[in-house]
Amino acid sequence: MNLRPVGPRTRLTLSDRDARRPPAFGDRDAVKSLLAREVERLGHLQERLIASKARALLVVLQGRDASGKDGVIRTVFDGCNPLGVRVTSFGVPTELERSHDFLWRIHAAVPPRGYIGIFNRSHYEDVLVVRVRRLAPRRVWSARYAQINDFERMLSLNGVTILKFFLHVSREEQRERFIDRLHDPEENWKFRAGDLEDRKLWSAYTRAYRDALRKCSTPWAPWYVVPADSKTVRNYLITRVINETLSGLRLRFPRLAPEVRRLRVD
Ligand code: AMP
Ligand code: MG
Repeated sequence: MNLRPVGPRTRLTLSDRDARRPPAFGDRDAVKSLLAREVERLGHLQERLIASKARALLVVLQGRDASGKDGVIRTVFDGCNPLGVRVTSFGVPTELERSHDFLWRIHAAVPPRGYIGIFNRSHYEDVLVVRVRRLAPRRVWSARYAQINDFERMLSLNGVTILKFFLHVSREEQRERFIDRLHDPEENWKFRAGDLEDRKLWSAYTRAYRDALRKCSTPWAPWYVVPADSKTVRNYLITRVINETLSGLRLRFPRLAPEVRRLRVD
């Protein structure tokens, strides 16, 4: 089973059921070994990305608290050379960031050619948390969908391949993960009181996500909805999309220039 990008006719119920492990997947061990193979393959594809310097890859991760954004970063890129990977987390904007347009800090973190950039949260917060918590008036955030599409199109025309993943976790699974975070001393640090307030706003976030996914899934920067209740399936599905995209770029190792080819190592 492969994920398909969100299109005009994609059902975006985003119900708890859609977050579950899809029945098409066999037992846990089978998925684990599929995942291991894809993670290794991503490492090989990354070498071509680095060597050819033809494009950059930008992976945008969005999802509710405890949906597994950090887990994806840890697992999916495990076979990659860290030298070629740049991770950026976007939290509450600083005063300086707030005094600029909302894409300023985002643009500065876009990876250069040859690199994989990973966004842990992104410019989409500016149409999600900002909308749901009313941090800006409707006329401000509603104009941003088109601004985001234009920005992403500009990037894609300038060598950046963009993939966007919404990690869709169910309400029940988030509850379990929050309970672990509250009770396990080694997980306490992941929990913030504000996470519970966002949980109370579940349906408002669902509506905001639905709009963002619908309005901003484009041919040049597609959105994928990832069922995220099963961590292994989540990781596998994401790695698979990344690999299919990278291999579709047909990145080649550069050949030796003729004058270099003539040289002999003594
Ligand atoms: P975390 O990812 O759990 O470390 O939390 C980061 C927090 O920053 C989340 O609660 C986000 O909603 C918040 N955040 C990220 N971007 C923005 C933004 N543009 N405006 C307001 N809050 C944001
Ligand atoms: Mg959090």
